[in-house]
Amino acid sequence: MTANSRLIEQDLAAVWHPCTQMKDHEWLPMIPIWRGQGVWLEDYDGNRYLDAISSWWVNLFGHSHPYINKAIKQQLDTLEHVLLAGFTHEPIINLSQRLIKLAPQGLTRCFYADNGSSAVEIALKMSFHYFHNQGQTQKTKFICLSNSYHGETLGALAVGDVALYKETYAPLLMQAITVESPDCFMRDPDSSCREHSIAKFNIMRTTLEQHAHEVCAVIVEPIVQCASGMRMYDPVYLKLLRNACDEFGVQLIVDEVATGFGRTGSLFACEQANITPDYLCLGKGLTGGYLPLSVVMTKEVIYQAFYADFKTLKAFLHSHSYTGNPLACAAANATLDLLEQTPALAHNAHLSKHMHDTIEPLRDHPHVAEIRQRGMILAIEMVKDKQTREPYPWQERRGLRVYEYGLKHQMLLRPLGNVIYFMPPYVITDDEIDLMIKVAIEGINEATA
Ligand code: PMP
Repeated sequence: MTANSRLIEQDLAAVWHPCTQMKDHEWLPMIPIWRGQGVWLEDYDGNRYLDAISSWWVNLFGHSHPYINKAIKQQLDTLEHVLLAGFTHEPIINLSQRLIKLAPQGLTRCFYADNGSSAVEIALKMSFHYFHNQGQTQKTKFICLSNSYHGETLGALAVGDVALYKETYAPLLMQAITVESPDCFMRDPDSSCREHSIAKFNIMRTTLEQHAHEVCAVIVEPIVQCASGMRMYDPVYLKLLRNACDEFGVQLIVDEVATGFGRTGSLFACEQANITPDYLCLGKGLTGGYLPLSVVMTKEVIYQAFYADFKTLKAFLHSHSYTGNPLACAAANATLDLLEQTPALAHNAHLSKHMHDTIEPLRDHPHVAEIRQRGMILAIEMVKDKQTREPYPWQERRGLRVYEYGLKHQMLLRPLGNVIYFMPPYVITDDEIDLMIKVAIEGINEATA
């Protein structure tokens, strides 16, 4: 029995894994990882896997980065954790000051949690509560986009629109108003992504006109709807949305849990539309992929709407036990150091172009309907019929076949349905991109043969 197989047996007897039909592991390998280094993960039998999806989009500068490791170890020797109510610490003060400088102008307050879904819950509750504190108690609803994803907790799930994750729980969820996404995959072949996004905005505008009186906020993933298959739209939509939200007295929640910290080419995706949301949700890459931490950044006027004598009961009495954990903050500060002190974003522009050029041969593939990219996110939409874009039946699990092929060839390419995508750590090299794309193309050939 190898070290891997012993651990797999023990794992499957005790662990229930996330987002997994556990029965699949009767035939799909479970991979026990003993160490990570840069873009590489290594299992207990010595097999290596290039982490092409940054371990669910969290890792920015590679696994076991010496600089982040050191920062966490230093923090560990002084303070591992303290509650954040009534107490504070230098790492969180530094982090907050730095985020305020880096984020779109006007976001001056940081409220922390420990995962992306919780950040979304906070933004939803804060928006509702903001209006409540102003006496606008009729505002109880949220608008979201079709194909959106904002997390798995019940509030976040309610403003998401991925049927696979949501449908079963529908009876438990608040009703959100879902507006058709500007998703450019759905555009007419003779219209540009920008034209399509502008045209689709009319639906949002009409919805705002009709519902503004009862709506607290619109929530969007900016530019890339990640979990629904890396569907993309033009930043102009965000610009129009910001203006319309102002016009109709509705707040804007921008969920950059996945797109934040350079993934789409700019530090934050909403910079590409030059907008400031009312709430900016950040998570995942915030700690470089080391520790759970998330934050909702908001504006002074919103903070002030909660600032009053205790007896007015206007305070935002939301909390999580590990809010603002100092070790996570130390990892986040070290990650911001790397973003600020290395030419990471300029280098990403080079890496993005290399991915773009290397994937070129796949564009004519008979089962690839679209290859789309924003910065360090590149996605390949596999379809049954290239002309009609008829998807493969989901039951065939074609994407999973690419995943299986990848695992046998040193590659972690966990798909989203029939979408294969790359979202690698920023320390990937050109040669590693070449390998990643070579294996993906072979896997796609095999899965669509
Ligand atoms: N928002 C977006 C845009 C996400 O992509 C995700 C996670 N994939 C979440 C929220 C939820 O984050 P978490 O998994 O940390 O709860």
